[in-house]
Amino acid sequence: MLIGICGSICAGKHSVQDYLIERHGFEPLDLVPNSAPAVETSALQPLVHKGQSSTTPRQPFASVNDLVDFATQNWQQRCCTTSIHDEATVEALCHRPFFLLLHIDAPLSTRWQRFKTRCTSTSTTPRTLEQFVQANDAHLYNPSTGGLATLASRAQINLLNSTTSLRNLHSALDALNLTDESRLRPTWDHYFMTLASLAARRSNCMRRQVGCVLVRANRVIATGYNGTPRHITNCNAGGCPRCNDGGGRSGVGLSTCLCLHAEENALLEAGRERIVQVGIAEVVFNRSYYMDAETAKIFGEAGVQLRQFSPPKEGLVNLVDEPVANVSKTAKAVYKVMVSQFETNGARDVTETVLTVKLFLEPAPIHEACVELRKLGLIVKTSERLDWYVPVPLGTWRERQEE
Ligand SMILES: [Zn+2]
Ligand SMILES: [Zn+2]
Repeated sequence: MLIGICGSICAGKHSVQDYLIERHGFEPLDLVPNSAPAVETSALQPLVHKGQSSTTPRQPFASVNDLVDFATQNWQQRCCTTSIHDEATVEALCHRPFFLLLHIDAPLSTRWQRFKTRCTSTSTTPRTLEQFVQANDAHLYNPSTGGLATLASRAQINLLNSTTSLRNLHSALDALNLTDESRLRPTWDHYFMTLASLAARRSNCMRRQVGCVLVRANRVIATGYNGTPRHITNCNAGGCPRCNDGGGRSGVGLSTCLCLHAEENALLEAGRERIVQVGIAEVVFNRSYYMDAETAKIFGEAGVQLRQFSPPKEGLVNLVDEPVANVSKTAKAVYKVMVSQFETNGARDVTETVLTVKLFLEPAPIHEACVELRKLGLIVKTSERLDWYVPVPLGTWRERQEE
């Protein structure tokens, strides 16, 4: 894979590149230095890769075509480049299946602080803030070159780097898993879920847009979205009075809603084409989709597998120092799960039970959350995997209930 990194002055392009080199064995590829705009090179110390590459540094490529040729012939190798300064370079790379464009930015005041620190460390005379702002505007919005702002819109991932140390940047990047190949080529789940989101955009329901794709053996059988039935005025044209009342009171006038669910529409579509005898084996739903307990129960009784899908992070990702507040929130959520386990398992008679809670978190927050759980009076053990084995004394739970 080839990760192209572009971004504003002092946003952290080279820090991300060094991270990829050091932690994931990427090889840096450069274009000849004069392809970088003057405002950028003037803001940077001489280009030095702090990351340790196992091989001797490769000569810079004379043109983007040379770089593309190399990357094509070595597409299974992990490479990265920060030599992304114009549309032409992005155009040459962006349709290649091994290429991922990453854009990085940071608040102007943060970048100005970094810039001053860099000038101090390289014993260069710093510009004034005004000069720095002007250099930034030229870099981002120069009308003759198109500027960097247009490249940002083409990036698959936009990082907002507000981290205050390299260590925090690295752990935020660890959580992002930049080497995930499914960003280059979506998995089947991701592919069908994207089709479902596209279908949802056709929905005219004033309450909520929902889309659905029926799939058999990785082939699309039908798509559907929610809205009023055929030959009935569209929901957004007033076809369904309930959806248009705007009140959003749940349960009120439920029977008067005319809008079909996306799944029903997809099934009707498939039925009309005589393709399927309806028999859904599995429902994959998005993180944002609300699955209530009643629905889950009905699916369960029908033998329908339920699976939640979480795509790799794309779009704007805010890299911040680890949020401590969320840690105690996590700990509290875990505690709630444990209490409900007690109730459903009827574990009132045992003095101790062991619970496994799987959390998709990075090791550092898990460690913090363990500390929080200990504060709640719970013994916590962490295994090598990200599972928690939590033996809970029942007495503790009872006391907590009474509080
Ligand atoms: Zn509606
Ligand atoms: Zn309705």
